[in-house]
Amino acid sequence: MSRIAYVNGQYLPHSSAAVHVEDRGYQFADGVYEVCEVWQGNLVDGPRHLARLERSCSELRIPMPMEHKPLTLVLKEVIRRNKVRNGIVYMQVTRGVARRDHFFPLTPIAPTLVITAKPTNPAASDKQAETGIAVVSHPENRWPRVDIKTVGLLPNVLAKQYAREQGAKEVWYVDQDGFVTEGGSTNAWIVTKDGVLVTRPAETGILRGITRSVVLDLVEREGLQFEERPFSLEEAKNAREAFVTAASTICMPVVSLDGASIGNGHPGSVATELRKQFHTATHLDEIY
Ligand code: PLP
Repeated sequence: MSRIAYVNGQYLPHSSAAVHVEDRGYQFADGVYEVCEVWQGNLVDGPRHLARLERSCSELRIPMPMEHKPLTLVLKEVIRRNKVRNGIVYMQVTRGVARRDHFFPLTPIAPTLVITAKPTNPAASDKQAETGIAVVSHPENRWPRVDIKTVGLLPNVLAKQYAREQGAKEVWYVDQDGFVTEGGSTNAWIVTKDGVLVTRPAETGILRGITRSVVLDLVEREGLQFEERPFSLEEAKNAREAFVTAASTICMPVVSLDGASIGNGHPGSVATELRKQFHTATHLDEIY
């Protein structure tokens, strides 16, 4: 089946879809993105993702390319044209095309909007969740504005490649004070020996994950004990459980950190239950 990509108003064959060489996203990573899950033919948490996209754009003074309603229609159309029932939809907004110069263009330019969709394998992800993943720590070396979901992901790319070369699936960034900030493409959580869920507050050092916010809703709904506070690498190593969250992996148990087992070295019951319950707390928008 041929894939379709949306580029600035046109639905194009994925293999030939392109933006200009002087797109500022390409030249300066001057752009932002979002990834939404597609689950059983539904767009998951569209409104929260679009609200975060709008915030990211606004922080960089990039105009939103479209209102939320038409943008949602285009997202759904891209998903439909690619016949995705379970997968992800990716949207990227850059400042647009202009003669290369660090300054913003003097005359307003239209932002570039690209949307793609691809299927994923939920069975493989569930299987991975049955064994959990290994994580390795990495010094925090990103810029301080990680709350903006920019396409400038080089530190994350290098850190995640480092993880792979260590036989792990994810990194946990550790700040100068020894506290875990987040993963290379996920938010980080632990469950203490007393059964308290802990995740870093969204104010500093992390991306305000949409999956994180849904899991917090779920945690409140289920009346679980939780604390939003920083936790250290040491505390994580002594935790009963650990897990990561992201739209692409939902809630994924972490079973080892820097080679040491977490808890009994198997996925924890809290992470496993939150994963099972996850979609009961999401906003679902039918696509087909
Ligand atoms: N933190 C980082 C650095 C990420 O790149 C991501 C997702 O891409 C997340 C956290 C999780 O965010 P979300 O749950 O919105 O996918």
